[in-house]
Order: sequence, then structure tokens, then C-alpha cells
Amino acid sequence: MIDAVCTYDGKRKIYNIYNFQKLSNSDIEKYRQYLECPNPKCAAEAYYRRKSVDGKAACFGSRYHVQGCNEGRSSPQREREVKHALEVDKIIADSSEVAFDFFAADSKPSGESKTDRPSKPKPTGSGSTKSHTGAVATVRKTALGMEIALNSLMRGSDLAQSDMIIAIDEKYTYKAKNLFVNFADAEPADNPKDARPKMFWGTISHSDTDMEWLNPADCDDVGIPIKKHKDKIFNRFKITERRDLEGAGFILFGKCFWNAQKTRKIIELWNADRIFVSVDEG
Ligand SMILES: [Zn+2]
Repeated sequence: MIDAVCTYDGKRKIYNIYNFQKLSNSDIEKYRQYLECPNPKCAAEAYYRRKSVDGKAACFGSRYHVQGCNEGRSSPQREREVKHALEVDKIIADSSEVAFDFFAADSKPSGESKTDRPSKPKPTGSGSTKSHTGAVATVRKTALGMEIALNSLMRGSDLAQSDMIIAIDEKYTYKAKNLFVNFADAEPADNPKDARPKMFWGTISHSDTDMEWLNPADCDDVGIPIKKHKDKIFNRFKITERRDLEGAGFILFGKCFWNAQKTRKIIELWNADRIFVSVDEG
């Protein structure tokens, strides 16, 4: 995307990337959570990514282009997301209840990431070969993982409206539609003790300079402190600079409550394992 529409303050202004990156830091911080795809038929939530340390140019992008938007292009990442959305819709069609598996392995083929998880995924093979009906795969998919849930939500699967029951920690059950909440729709409890944990998802707009707070796109009143968990998360998802966070999809299990002044919603992560970050590979 060369251009993006900025809707800050209720106005619609088109910026091209060359002008936008020349704005002052404070203007960039102000406008970046109000960007859209310039194709009016799409108008998907968009993001700004700064220039990388090793010289990749600054750019606009979006994780949510509609099908056929000429500003979005096909990529292995996009194809994986679409595939996951179809898989999730099939799970919803076939199951009334699933367990949530926070340790379901990442599907990214290149990932030799250092995680605590014992084994690698078996993306397609291993015994399910002869079934072209998908029956075998379905039987095993009694669990839903973070990556597949995130990808499917970003690609508009039925998960966000589904009545399917999702069990967490064999203790809590939720209807899917009550469990998955976009950051922009987060409803804070007055204090952390009263907050019921949920699965919040969306896109990261940007972080603070120290990369200790994440700010979701599409809302400017939500902050996610990650200082305590930062090393583990960044190591797992190979995040080294602020740009890596910009435009990343993410989902986390946590609690939403007001800060003391009631000016900002805080979403507190459950622990370092209960987050999945999908860095933009574009
Ligand atoms: Zn678009």
C-alpha cells in the first residue's frame, strides 16, 4: 500500500507513505491507530511500519484486506490464514464442544523457534494421508490452538459468532462468541479481581520505545503491559525491533480492567505462554 486513509478526528485524509514517514513522531503516534486501506470497497484496518534497522523501507499494510482488494496481495502467510479459517469453520460445523490447547504447535514450517514445547507439529502428514474427506483430521481436531484461532478470526471465520463451547484448563467453559473479543470491544472490569479472563485478539499498532507496552490498532484506549514476559515472548516469536510488532496479529488470554484513573483499559496477560504473535511476513 502506497497510500492509506487516516480517519483521525473524524476526518478522512489520504497520506502516502513518503509524506507519512516524514511527520513528527508525535503525529505518527497519533494517526497510526486510525489508518485504513485506501480502496473504499475494502477500507480494512491498516497499520504503519517504520523503516527497519537493516534498511527495509517504511510501509503501510493491512492484515484484513477483503477478498479481491487490489491493495492486498497473496502470500504464504495469507494463504495459511485462509486455510486456518476454513479449518475452523469446519470444526464449528462438526463439533459442539472443543478444548482449547495453548500448546498447539505453531504451523509455520521454518520455525525452529526455541520454545518449551516438547514436540513439533505434524502439519498434514502422519497417517491422515488416505482421507481426502478430511474425516481423519477432524477426529483429531478436538482441540483448538491459538494460532489457528487467531488466523481464522483475522480472516473472518464464524468463530466470533459461534455458540460452540470451548473448554479452558478443564475448568472454565465459554461459548466461542463470548470468549473471543477484539481489542476494540474489550469491556473492562472495575478491578482485576472481578475480571473474567477472555481471549483478546487483533493487530498491534505499535509499542512504546522500550517495547514493554503493546497498543492495539483500531482503538487508542487499550494498553497491554508485557514487561514481565517480554524476553520469553520475543524469543519465541523472533521479535528484535519495534517494527516487528507493528502490524503483527496477536491473540492473548488475559483479563481486562480499568487503570486506577479509569482513563485506560489494561489487558493483563495470563502468562508468557498464553499469547500468540503473528509477525507480518510481508
Ligand atoms: Zn484493502
